Parts: sequence; structure tokens; C-alpha cells
Amino acid sequence: MSHSIHSSIKEIQKDMYFGTEVLNRVSFLREDNEFITRSLFHPSTRFIFFNRQQPLVYKNYGTKLAILTNGNNQVNIDELTPGVHDKLGVTGTKFLANGLYEGIPGWKSVLNTWNEDNRNHDKELRAGGKPIFLFMGLLDESIGLDVNSLKGESEPAVSEDDDGEKYLDHQGRYQGIAYYAVDVTRNQELSQQLIEFVNRCVNEQQGTATSKPKSAEENGVYYTHSRKHFLSFEHKEASLYSYGAMFFNWLKTNKFCPGCGHPTIPIHAGGKLACTNDAKTEPTAEKPEPRFICPVRSATVSNVSFPRTDMAIISIITNRDRSKILLSLGKRHAITKMYSCTAGFMEPSETVEIATKREIWEETGVNCAEVSIVMTQPWPFPSNLMIGCMGVVDFNGTDEVIHLGHDNELLDARWFDTSFVRKLVYPDEVAAGEDESFNPEGILIPMSESIAFSLIKLCVDEARNAHKL
Ligand SMILES: [Zn+2]
Repeated sequence: MSHSIHSSIKEIQKDMYFGTEVLNRVSFLREDNEFITRSLFHPSTRFIFFNRQQPLVYKNYGTKLAILTNGNNQVNIDELTPGVHDKLGVTGTKFLANGLYEGIPGWKSVLNTWNEDNRNHDKELRAGGKPIFLFMGLLDESIGLDVNSLKGESEPAVSEDDDGEKYLDHQGRYQGIAYYAVDVTRNQELSQQLIEFVNRCVNEQQGTATSKPKSAEENGVYYTHSRKHFLSFEHKEASLYSYGAMFFNWLKTNKFCPGCGHPTIPIHAGGKLACTNDAKTEPTAEKPEPRFICPVRSATVSNVSFPRTDMAIISIITNRDRSKILLSLGKRHAITKMYSCTAGFMEPSETVEIATKREIWEETGVNCAEVSIVMTQPWPFPSNLMIGCMGVVDFNGTDEVIHLGHDNELLDARWFDTSFVRKLVYPDEVAAGEDESFNPEGILIPMSESIAFSLIKLCVDEARNAHKL
């Protein structure tokens, strides 16, 4: 739990699970065909893979995302600047020995096909057998990559497919390592080949050349659907996973144009959706210029559809001096007794502050005097942005009274003493003999990767500062 315990809001905001900044998205380059072609085929480029929104991992090797390169012997960026590039790539060796060009026989042709389709906005971009690519961004100096440290690297073993370039240099302006996410759901043969390839890499790294190689199952190489697994990534892996999963969820759930019902295709390297309906109006005397029949395509601005996230608010509820914290038990968590923050979706034309007040009142009956926005977290289940707030309630005999009967969503909600909640946040502070007695009901709080935990911890920390608890 300790890796998520930061000491200030700033630190939490900077390193929020699923939200750590890992790449410079350079989103304007998604529509630059020259850049996309260069980055797609570059030997240093990294790829992460999804099958039905499930990322390819090698679980027995540190619950890691499988991050693969085109060329052999690419620099392992983990080892360039320890502490800065932790866990972005394969750990344990200085070079990533195996690349996709050599490891997957049809890889270059897969890249060629997609690159042509993407360039031409081909209507068959989503056709059977075709993986969907998303350009994610560049790991560059804005993220802390020391490009100079890549220049002097030479590989221990030379491969034919390795042209020695360890990072992409586009027009001298954009330098770094490009990342792509690839959805292989529609190409199960490639999906299987990738599992076998990663498994071979793992066996090689583990030095099983002399012993019997382990199977993919034994090495834990698979597309994982476990939420537990998603919440046990290193922070930077978690962000890459979340980024790919949320984009592919958007692409998957928007296969048809909202204006005319025709199929949509992902253009601009996965960054936009376009309607494929080319039908136009017949020219008339009043309107001699033909227009697209599809209202989405004929709109002056919105002839494409952009990625979206759904806003949800989540709030920690406390009193003025932070001596009390209100936590609630949802029906889903009846058995685990996990008490958490109040959360709900925002409605159209509602401010964050008012949505928070409304949600708190609807679920718990208490009235907040003040609401402030504290921090946010992307939440890829499937596609939310959690907006974390603090709601302050005045204890005046009315506003703090709990009433669960409005929307009947909760099993329980309670004002806890902050000193009790502190022991759940900082279990190390619990004295040995006190173990069971301080928490006879076995109440739990959410895991440290969640914004709910960060909000609870923030409130507990503020209480300590106010009272020296
Ligand atoms: Zn349309």
C-alpha cells in the first residue's frame, strides 16, 4: 500500500493511479501521415496490445504490461534514469533483445496494411482480421527522457533487423520513443502469436534454454480481465493501460454514426471517428451545392466524433474541524464491509459543486455547506473521469442528520471519528495489542490506488495538521 501514500495533494495529483503523465500525447501529430508512418515503422517504437479491452501481460514476471518493440536490441529505458523511467519496458536486462519484426512473421505486413488504410481513411479500417491502432504519444524530454543518453548506446548483439536507431527524430523537432496501443480483437491469429512470442521472450530471459521451456500459462502470459490485476500495475503501466482501454472502449461502443446510423471508422491514428456515409443531396435551384445527407457529416464543425469520457463526482464528507468523516456502505460491498466516499454521475448542465451537493444529499441526506474540487482520476471501468471533492457539513442539529431513504442506494452511512479512520489509513500506527479491538466490525476502506482512498487520506492528514492527532 505504501507506494500510493503521498504526503501532499500536489504529489497525489501528479501521480494519481491511472492518471500519471507517461507520454507527451502530441495529439496534433495523429493526423500527420508522414509522422505516423515514420513512428509506426521505427525500430524503437513500443506497442501494447489489447484483446477485447484486456491488456497483454506477463503476470508471473511482476504483473507487467507486455510492452514490445519493432526492432531487436532496443534500449531498456527502465535502466537509463532509475526512478524516472521505472517499469516502462522489460526489466532486468539492458536491451530488449526480441523485436516484433523478427518475432512475428506477418508484423510488417500488418503495419503496412493499417498504415495505408489510415492514410486513405479506408472504409475497411474496421474490417474482419484487421487490428485497430492508436497512436498514444511520445516518451520525450517533456516527460523526463534524456535523449542524449540514448545516442551513445550500442547493442551487445547485432541483428539484421536492427538499424541501430534507439529513438525517433521527427524533423529535429519531436524526439523520443513513440507508443502505440493495438486492439487485436479482430485478429485472433495475431493475438495468439503475440502470446507465444512474449512467452518465448520470457523463457529466454529466465534462461530456460537448457531446461524445458515453460508454457504461456505457466509464465502467466495472457490477456487479463482481472480488475485486481489492473489495480496492481506500477503507476506508469497503469496509465498506459488506462489510456488504451478507454480509447478502445470508445471505439468499440461507437461503431455507428449517431446522425445516420452508417458504420464509423477510426481515422487520425485512432484519435477520431468518421462517418462512412458518402451520400449527398441532389442539387436544387435553392441549394445548388450538394451536401452530405448525414447530419453529422454536413455539420460545419462536427463532421467527426471525438473521444469522450463520462464525468462522475466522488466526495469525502467531513465537518469544519475534520474531527468527523462520513463514509457510506454501498449494497455491492455489504459482505466486505468496505465503507467509501459518496459518488455518482454528473448530469447535463450541472456544476461539479452542485452535482456533489446533490449526490451527497440524495444518498445520505446530509447538507453540505461548502464543496471544493480537490483532485481527479481517470477510471477506465469503462470510461470515467472521477472528480474528487471535499464536502464540509456544519453540525447544527439538522444538516448533519443522516437519512438513507431518498434514493435508497446505500445500506449504511455513518459519521466516524477521524481518529478511527486514521487507523484504517495508517495500519502501521495501530498498536500491537489493539489489533482487533479498535475495529470490531472489520470495516474496510477502498484500496490505495483509488481516488476514494486519496480523499479519505487527505481528510485524515488535514485533521492531524489541525489537531496534532
Ligand atoms: Zn453519418
